[in-house]
Amino acid sequence: MSLKVVKFGGSSLASADQFRKVASIIKADKNRRYAVASAPGKRFTGDFKVTDMFYLLYDKASSGESIEELFGEISYRYTDIANDLGVDLPLDKELSKIKAALYGMAGRDYAASRGEYLNSMILAKHMGYDFIDAAEVIFFKTDGTFDAERTNAVLSERLKKHEYAVVPGFYGSMPNGTIKTFSRGGSDITGSILARAANATLYENWTDVSGFLMTDPRIVENPKVIETITYRELRELSYMGATVLHEDAIFPVQIAGIPINIKNTNAPDDPGTMIVASSDKYDTKNIITGIAGKKGFSSIHIEKDMMNGEVGFTRKILSVFEEMNISFEHLPSGIDTMTIMLKTADIDAIREQLIASIKKAVKPDSIYIQDGIALVAVVGRAMVKAKGTAAKVFKAIASADVNIKMIDQGSDEMNIIIGIEEGDFEKAVNAIYKEFIA
Ligand code: ADP
Ligand code: ASP
Ligand code: MG
Repeated sequence: MSLKVVKFGGSSLASADQFRKVASIIKADKNRRYAVASAPGKRFTGDFKVTDMFYLLYDKASSGESIEELFGEISYRYTDIANDLGVDLPLDKELSKIKAALYGMAGRDYAASRGEYLNSMILAKHMGYDFIDAAEVIFFKTDGTFDAERTNAVLSERLKKHEYAVVPGFYGSMPNGTIKTFSRGGSDITGSILARAANATLYENWTDVSGFLMTDPRIVENPKVIETITYRELRELSYMGATVLHEDAIFPVQIAGIPINIKNTNAPDDPGTMIVASSDKYDTKNIITGIAGKKGFSSIHIEKDMMNGEVGFTRKILSVFEEMNISFEHLPSGIDTMTIMLKTADIDAIREQLIASIKKAVKPDSIYIQDGIALVAVVGRAMVKAKGTAAKVFKAIASADVNIKMIDQGSDEMNIIIGIEEGDFEKAVNAIYKEFIA
């Protein structure tokens, strides 16, 4: 029997008109039984996401500033949608409860979570679906990590009691009952968790683009849609900045082998992108599946004569990072040199201390940090079979007159990662895209 879990992102639920589109999508297929809703997103360029407004609200409340005006704006976002749709909900009561909790300092995650909580209540009412509060079915452990097994046990039992239901995305509860959210964009994870618990045949993730595009549409004009992508490829791309789907949304469905279909709420007939466990199908012409990248990296360059022969050198360096609780991205090395790539934000406050600790641990001849680096990942399951992919990447970069600072190829030969200067980022991504997509 076919059962679909559907998740709608913020822009899909930003206004009453968008709600109507969502309702007609859900109603068009009776197998779309469980829906996950995000908080209202931007309605137009320059608009605010309700989640961001809730974070601001919390900051104001906790610093003792008045929250009246901002709270009024948030309330209006919801009452406007509810009134236009004509749904009959005690929204005022819910809103006053939230306001009181904020003055009682209910916590930053609680504040942020109310975005999806209220929106899901409206969607449930509008659809005639049951509302299940995520706090009752999605659990975190005391250390703050997601409790997959407890969640799956409780949620799968709970879903048996509801033929049709809406669940808010993005949050769950801690063992002591307080609200905790996933990281930003986390409603995608909730959808995946639901798909697993419901034993769904498909997880549809509805957003504002017609699928996973080969690269960021804000960098390359009109990139092609990826027809089929594997969980692994998608994780590589989303980790490196292709933000369509939260990178952790893969895990729950991967356990159960449930495919994900990325779809466009504003163009529901477009086929979108299928995300699957594995696929032999690939575009023989293009070879690569996608390109993604991010700015904001730093590299630490370490040089020492005869480094290569010094047993335990790498271990000593890595223990410094472990002790300081810093994770790194890449570690390319030569005979006498080693480069460690990491997020600038992770080392910003502790630079001097970090350099001093490395000096003490391995006594290098020289060590320095370089900021302003962007990483670009070229990902493709077909790369392992096709000769010359790396050459094509480097040719594209060279002809765009961009200098490469680092090269790293994953051991599974599914990705090539290059480090370049931040200022060259857009140019490099465009050049690689054009080289592969004629
Ligand atoms: P939602 O609110 O529906 O969860 P998101 O804003 O999280 O939507 O994700 C969709 C957005 O991701 C798109 O509007 C697009 O700007 C951006 N994006 C970045 N990289 C890609 C890509 N490779 N393919 C498609 N969209 C991308
Ligand atoms: N509303 C949350 C955010 O803006 C979660 C999500 O949209 O997935 O991050
Ligand atoms: Mg999202």
